[in-house]
Amino acid sequence: MGEVISPVDGAGIGVVPGCSVEDVDAAVSRAAAAFETWRHVAPGDRGRLLRRFAAQVDAHLEELALLEVRNAGHTIGNARWEAGNVRDVLDYYAGAPERLTGHQIPVPGGLDVTFHEPLGVVGVIVPWNFPMPIAGWGFAPALAAGNTVVLKPAELTPLTALRLAELARDAGLPDGVFTVLPGRGSVVGERFVTHPAVRKICFTGSTEVGTRIMAGCAAQVKRVTLELGGKSANIVFADADLEKAAATAPYAVFDNAGQDCCARSRILVQRQVYDRFLELLEPAVRAFRVEDPARETAEMGPLISAAHRDRVAGYVDGADVAFTGSCPDGPGFWYAPTVLLAGSPADRHWREEVFGPVVSVLPFDDEADAIRLANDTEYGLSGSIWTRDVGRAVRVARAVESGNLSVNSHSSVRYWTPFGGMKRSGLGRELGPDALHAFTDVKNVFIGTEE
Ligand code: NAP
Ligand code: MG
Repeated sequence: MGEVISPVDGAGIGVVPGCSVEDVDAAVSRAAAAFETWRHVAPGDRGRLLRRFAAQVDAHLEELALLEVRNAGHTIGNARWEAGNVRDVLDYYAGAPERLTGHQIPVPGGLDVTFHEPLGVVGVIVPWNFPMPIAGWGFAPALAAGNTVVLKPAELTPLTALRLAELARDAGLPDGVFTVLPGRGSVVGERFVTHPAVRKICFTGSTEVGTRIMAGCAAQVKRVTLELGGKSANIVFADADLEKAAATAPYAVFDNAGQDCCARSRILVQRQVYDRFLELLEPAVRAFRVEDPARETAEMGPLISAAHRDRVAGYVDGADVAFTGSCPDGPGFWYAPTVLLAGSPADRHWREEVFGPVVSVLPFDDEADAIRLANDTEYGLSGSIWTRDVGRAVRVARAVESGNLSVNSHSSVRYWTPFGGMKRSGLGRELGPDALHAFTDVKNVFIGTEE
C-alpha cells in the first residue's frame, strides 16, 4: 500500500507510506502540546505567520499545480486556481485573529463578555477530488482561530498536502501546529474520530462515510462539520438566454471530470424549449476539450482511478445516451463527457451521485414542477436557475433546498462567501466570515462589580 498512481497514464509516481494508529497518537500528542502555545500567540503574530504561509504557497504555485496535474489529473488551469485558492484562503483568514471579537452584554451588577475560544486539536479529513482547496478550507480558519491541525489527505492524492506541510514549516509555523498524516481512512481518519484529544472533525467526502463519522463523533459530543455529496439541478426556463445556458452547462458538470460535489448533474429544461436546448447543448459537449491535462487548452482530464471509471460507466450501461463528447484512448482513466436522457425521475442516473462526466436531462412543465423535481433528492448542495424573470429567479432560489444557488451563472465557490449543504449534503458552513465560529466555542464570563 502507499503507491501513488497518476490517472493521466496509470504510471506509479511515488510511494507514500500510510501512518499507523500509533503514528496518529504521537502526532495528536504533539498537536495538543503545540496548542497550549499556539492559542496564546499574539493575534497579530498568528496572522503574520499565516500570511507568510500564504506567501510560500504563492511562491510555489506552479510547482503545486504541476504536482496536482500529475497526481489527480486536474487540468493545469484548474490546478493553478486550486493552489491560488489555498493562498487566498490563508490570506483571508490571516486577517481574522485580530477580528475575532466577542460581545459585551449589558447586565445588572457587573460586566458580561463573551470569548470565541479555540477548541484544541482539529482533525481535517480530505477527499481526492479537490485535494488542495478542501484542505485549505479546513486548516486555514482552524489555525487562524487558534487551533492546531492534523490533516489526512485521501490515499489517492497525498502529494500536494505533504508539500503544503513543508511550506508551512518553511513559513515558520511552530512544530506540531499543522501536521499532515497520510494513510487510510479506516486507520488515520477513524483514529481522528475516536481520539479524545481531537476536539473537532472537519470532513469532506461521501455522505456514507460522513454519516458514520457523525455517529462516531456523537460518542464524545465532538464538534463536526460535514461537506458531503450532491445531485444538483440546473433549471432552464423557457424565457432564459438559451444559447448561454446551453454553452455553459457542460462546464457546470464536466469541470474536474464531474468529480465535483457541486456538479450540476441534473439538467431540468422547460418542455417547450427542451428540443432546442438539446440542439444547442450537443455542439458544446462535442467541442469540450478532453486531453492531457498538462496542456494549456485542456478543459477536462481523466477520472481519478480505474475503479472509479468502472463505477461511472456502470451508470451509463443501459441508459438512454443522447450524445457524447470525446476523450483520448490509451493508458489513463479516460471517460468521454456523456449526456443521458432521463425517462423518469426514478432513473438511477437521475437519483444517485455519479461523480463523473455524466449529465442527465429531463423536461418539466411549469415553475412548481421544476421546484418539485429539483427538491426530489436527499441532497441539497448547489444548483443553477436560468431565467430572465427576476421575480421567478428569486422565488425559485428561495424554494430550492440547497446551500449554494446561482442565477444565470454556475458559480458556487468564493472564499469570502459561505459554502455548504442542506439535507444530506452536509452540516455547517465553510469559508466566508462565519466559518471561524465553527472552530471555536463561545464562552460567557460575568464579572461582578458590586462592593
Ligand atoms: P470518501 O470515501 O467519503 O473519502 C473521503 C475521505 O474520508 C478520504 O480521505 C478517506 O480516506 C476518508 N475516509 C474513508 N473512510 C473513513 C472512515 N471510516 N473514517 C474516517 N475517514 C474515512 O469519499 P471519496 O471517495 O474520497 O470522495 C468522493 C465523495 O466525496 C463524493 O460522494 C463527493 O460528493 C464527496 N465530496 C463532497 C464535497 C463537498 O464539499 N460537499 C467535496 C468533495 C467530495 P481514503 O483516502 O482512505 O479513502
Ligand atoms: Mg471512499
